[in-house]
Amino acid sequence: MTERGTLYVVATPIGNLADLGARAVDILGSVERIVAEDTRHSRKLLQHYALQTPMSALHEHNERELAPKLVQQLLEGHSLALISDAGTPLISDPGYNLVRLAREAGARVVPVPGPSALICALSASGLPTDRFVFEGFLPAKSTARINRLQQLNRESRTLVFYESSHRIVESLHDMCAVFGAQRPAVLARELTKQFETIHGDTLQALAEWVTDDPNQQKGEIVVLVHGLAEVEGHVITPEAERVLTVLLEELPIKTAAKLAARLTGIKKRELYEYGLTLKPAGSR
Ligand code: SAM
Repeated sequence: MTERGTLYVVATPIGNLADLGARAVDILGSVERIVAEDTRHSRKLLQHYALQTPMSALHEHNERELAPKLVQQLLEGHSLALISDAGTPLISDPGYNLVRLAREAGARVVPVPGPSALICALSASGLPTDRFVFEGFLPAKSTARINRLQQLNRESRTLVFYESSHRIVESLHDMCAVFGAQRPAVLARELTKQFETIHGDTLQALAEWVTDDPNQQKGEIVVLVHGLAEVEGHVITPEAERVLTVLLEELPIKTAAKLAARLTGIKKRELYEYGLTLKPAGSR
């Protein structure tokens, strides 16, 4: 079932233990050792599948020191499986040094695909999936976080962020300030678990909804933000979007687009076409 001298990089469930694939079960049951981020946490998964493979811990504090020793074991012919607490190893999780060193040393590295919160969230978000960027966790400190968001302000691909429950309110407010209140976004929380929630709205409405309901601040969260909208290849800036949105509240699209063009310098026709996407057909 498993080959000698091979490192298997095995994705594990992000909440629902039934999401471990049959091949992953086979491999976890037949390698000589499983290298896990937190052995106590992964013990529950192994118990669920009645697996008794020995485990060692590889986490951010010992990875640099341990990785060369594990590579030596691979070169001696041992088979290992790398797992993290949830989802795909190396995706905002330990394992990068081990995989890099193993490949450099000529050991075989075999991926065993499965869940990852970012793909799970994206697949059900309703946001464009043909082009997206995974940004992982934003910086914890406000100034650094706003700087990072500003660097992403003109990104036209869908943006995917991981966020902790402690910082979700602050982060959504910062996103709202930098990307604009009207930018569509989706909060995907507790995926595959009992309180799974996938909720889409404008960034402002989403930030208010999460601020007002402490339940929406709990658990594990992915935030997805629509990229900067393009019309015929031209980018509508957050400022133009804001101006157009306010004008559309009071005026028909044609007049709103004309005034917004004077205020922003963007072509009237582009604003008109973008306005069509903002205003429902019955109220133009
Ligand atoms: N390696 C994992 C993966 O492939 O998705 C990610 C690990 S990272 C340390 C943990 C973050 O992933 C959480 O803070 C959250 O942003 C996201 N995450 C993990 N499980 C999730 C779930 N069930 N629902 C929503 N987000 C989740």
